[in-house]
Amino acid sequence: MNSGRYARQVTLPGVGVDGQERLASARVLCVGAGGLGSPAALYLTAAGIGTVGLIDGDVVMESNLPRQVLYDSNDLGRPKTQAAAAKLRLLNPQVKIVTHDHWLEPENAQEVFRGYDVIVDGSDNFATKYLVNDAAAALGLPVVWGSISGHEGRVSVFCVGRGPCYRCVYPEPPSAPVGHCGENGVLGALAGVIGAAQALEAQKLCFKTDGVFRPLLGRMLVVDGATFETFVWEIQPNSQCAHGSKGLRAVSRLEPGVMIVDVRPADEWRKAHVPGALSWPLEALERGKTPPLERSRPCVVYCQYGAQTWRAVELLEQQGFRDVRELLGGFTRWSHESSVAFG
Ligand SMILES: [Zn+2]
Repeated sequence: MNSGRYARQVTLPGVGVDGQERLASARVLCVGAGGLGSPAALYLTAAGIGTVGLIDGDVVMESNLPRQVLYDSNDLGRPKTQAAAAKLRLLNPQVKIVTHDHWLEPENAQEVFRGYDVIVDGSDNFATKYLVNDAAAALGLPVVWGSISGHEGRVSVFCVGRGPCYRCVYPEPPSAPVGHCGENGVLGALAGVIGAAQALEAQKLCFKTDGVFRPLLGRMLVVDGATFETFVWEIQPNSQCAHGSKGLRAVSRLEPGVMIVDVRPADEWRKAHVPGALSWPLEALERGKTPPLERSRPCVVYCQYGAQTWRAVELLEQQGFRDVRELLGGFTRWSHESSVAFG
């Protein structure tokens, strides 16, 4: 890691060298490389996120330029992902930039999301927002959601199993058709405020959750750009929601006597694991293989960062396990905390 580049970040409380390393191993996908995705991707790349992905099927148009600050006049007509990747690689050659030069569709969403730890939703239409929510919920990934409507911007972090999801808050799309930025007005700087807030939230999800940082999980930031009145609303999982009804099923520490299942690939388990943890990769669960454990006893599952375990919990429950929980922050957080406790 180039410590000089990140010197002003690592000195911050709650970040440190450890936090910078967490950023460097994180993979964040920006859905949409437009008004929100532009500032989000710029700040994520500048901050040294290990992999920044961009998915967008659009080309750069002149009317994009007042808010989509990844692009300039020479980019007109170019695919956004290509133009964006060129800028971002110049900004920070240490970051791996991955481009998906197509739209997010129900057929490809889970396949695209599978390679990431955090999804930043910078899309500008309801259909995509529901699609992002449902694909991320299926994979247990957190979504840093942002939206702009007129002078108002909103940001929240949705993560099924740890808080509400988009469907908990917005069970139905508005019945009257609401145009996106292409039709309705938007001030570019407000898109910058919201997109930068999304980048900040995505970074916070990478840091230790017990320290300085508190992501907007279960809370929604509402910014009125016209007056700069800001509110933070508490939001709850909705028991009527297909995802939210599952409630909160995460634990932050391991109680004695609990069965522990490591759902990472077996070679990761061989390198290091929580003592007593059974190696049972997610991929084996997906194939319907049931771990040889008592179904009635409490069971905690973990993956590397805690982002992938939701799916394992779901599969184990389908196999008849009655009390399955996920370990918050996964193996990374556990190993950090146990090294603090014992090292
Ligand atoms: Zn929900």
